[in-house]
Amino acid sequence: MKTLVSVATVLIALTANVHAKLNVVATTPDLAAIARDIGGDKLEHTKLTRPTEDPHFVDAKPSFIVKLNKADALIHGGAELEAAWLRPLLEGARNAKIVSASKGDVRCCDGVKMMEVPTTLDRSKGDIHAAGNPHYLMDPENAKIVAHHIADAFGQLDSANREFYLANANKFITALDAKLAGWQAQLAPFKGQHIVAYHNSWIYFAERFGLKIDLFLEPKPGIPPSPAHLASIIAKMKEENARVIIVDPYLNRKTAETVARSTGATVVDAAQFPGGVKGTEGGYLALMDYLVNSLAKALGEKK
Ligand SMILES: [Zn+2]
Repeated sequence: MKTLVSVATVLIALTANVHAKLNVVATTPDLAAIARDIGGDKLEHTKLTRPTEDPHFVDAKPSFIVKLNKADALIHGGAELEAAWLRPLLEGARNAKIVSASKGDVRCCDGVKMMEVPTTLDRSKGDIHAAGNPHYLMDPENAKIVAHHIADAFGQLDSANREFYLANANKFITALDAKLAGWQAQLAPFKGQHIVAYHNSWIYFAERFGLKIDLFLEPKPGIPPSPAHLASIIAKMKEENARVIIVDPYLNRKTAETVARSTGATVVDAAQFPGGVKGTEGGYLALMDYLVNSLAKALGEKK
């Protein structure tokens, strides 16, 4: 009888395991959205940051440690995007499944061609892009690399559903490719135009679409604008005929508005994360649709 009970217990445990969903934690909402597209109903997933929150400066709550402690996989951007706040949380979580180089450690920047990698590292200057510019997901081509990483990791952690994850990654990539040509056509008339951004999170987007998003209200990533710096930006904007200023939801829109008043520029509310601005809640493709549409509209009006 005792043996029967043990066998039954083992069977119940195995059955539970077969049907258990993958417990996935994504650091940011863009990674969470792609993970959701790939994992569908096989996931129990959560994200640590809100789409209107600065990914560099996150208010790390004790509840994050609990989430990380239970996770089968941690999907993170890497390239120091989350460096300041994620490391202590991982130490607190003590979860061997997601420690560096484990199966559940999904470091999405692997294989991405990083831009603006500094030749010398001097953190004393306050630059928070210490491993190069970490906002690589603003290039849709890099979203494909991320989709592959996520599908591979899910397939390894849950081999029974491997084909499901790969098929969904392919579906995501096909949908993205179908959109990409349209996005490029929409922005093609503005090739080479200078655009201002508050924070330097747009270099990959600019490179993909032939724009020059190369003037920043921040003197360095993470350093607030000073009056002297803003005066020099206003002068450069006039010189380069830059007529659009991009602002993320967590940055100071009023500063951008002041600069816009002095230069006749338009402020465009943009976001790196689905849900960061209204109409982008649907996911990565909806976000890109919004960004391309709103930039094309603002640049078209100012031509
Ligand atoms: Zn940044």
